[in-house]
Amino acid sequence: MTGAAGFIGHNLCAVLLRRGFEVWGLDDLSRGFAERVDWLRDMGMEFVKLDIRDRDGVAEAVSRIRPDVVVHLAALISVPESFEKPELYREVNVEGTGNLVSAANDSGVWRFVYASSAAVYGDPVKLPISEDHPTRPLSPYGETKLEGERLVLRSFSGGGKAVSLRLFNVYGRGQNLEYAGVITRFIERVREGKPPVIFGDGEQTRDFVHVLDVSEAVVRASEAELDGSDVFNVASGKPVKIRDLAYMVARIFDVDLEPIYADPRPGDIRHSYADISKIQKTLSWRPGISLEKGLLELIRADLNRLS
Ligand code: NAD
Repeated sequence: MTGAAGFIGHNLCAVLLRRGFEVWGLDDLSRGFAERVDWLRDMGMEFVKLDIRDRDGVAEAVSRIRPDVVVHLAALISVPESFEKPELYREVNVEGTGNLVSAANDSGVWRFVYASSAAVYGDPVKLPISEDHPTRPLSPYGETKLEGERLVLRSFSGGGKAVSLRLFNVYGRGQNLEYAGVITRFIERVREGKPPVIFGDGEQTRDFVHVLDVSEAVVRASEAELDGSDVFNVASGKPVKIRDLAYMVARIFDVDLEPIYADPRPGDIRHSYADISKIQKTLSWRPGISLEKGLLELIRADLNRLS
């Protein structure tokens, strides 16, 4: 598991370890946290600190570990930063992915699971967004995730084939604050007694999926028998208005806060939600945690941490 110290990675590693899988985590800790690695090591995870841009290092680690499945989550994930440092994003998200695919091919890995992103679709021309929707990313981040995905699907040669999971807006415990999505930002503000800030009129929609549901999708993607390499959306399939989300967060905190409306952010997509019928049918996966339940649990955990 690359990116094991990250938001999705550490949640997923914990799920796999609890289910009795042997898990090796790999991360350079550039954006992930060492405390998470310590916590996972206590649960039985083995860890390798490594930059996926180090081709020889990756080849050596994968040939030593000889995993059945590689789950590749390590990436740089900030859209604004990707405009400032497109080369860095290419090196990590595309070349780093290439290093892993080569190493996996050389070491007889059976299945390669790649964390792709809804960012590969760009501005939707058709809703809900199905996997055959045109891919026109709007940022270097989205471009590098799409290139990484194509590379995996084209070049991975293991017998179990490759699976690319196009994750929509993932939320849950441990999201890195610096690159946090809208849910974490709303919770931060409301916890401090400040109104949530909405960019634009709040009528824009997003599709939120809980990190534990994503973890279950990765487990299914790692084990399923497949005829060929394939791509799946991982999402709730339900559009949620950002304005409704702001009120939902305030309601759970039991405070009466009217959101503040700021200028829309340039390049922000108006509506985004996924068609999830393909993953439901092929991998028998469906999201089990409603947004209400996921938010309630997240905010309760947050309040407990503070009290
Ligand atoms: P994250 O930043 O929390 O985790 C990424 C991890 O990768 C970090 O621990 C970081 O240290 C590690 N990493 C970065 N560069 C590395 C390198 N050169 N070598 C080794 N490790 C490196 O991000 P996340 O939210 O957990 O995202 C995980 C994956 O899921 C990414 O591939 C991302 O594109 C994808 N994704 C996330 C979301 C979301 O909503 N969080 C949505 C769509 C797709």
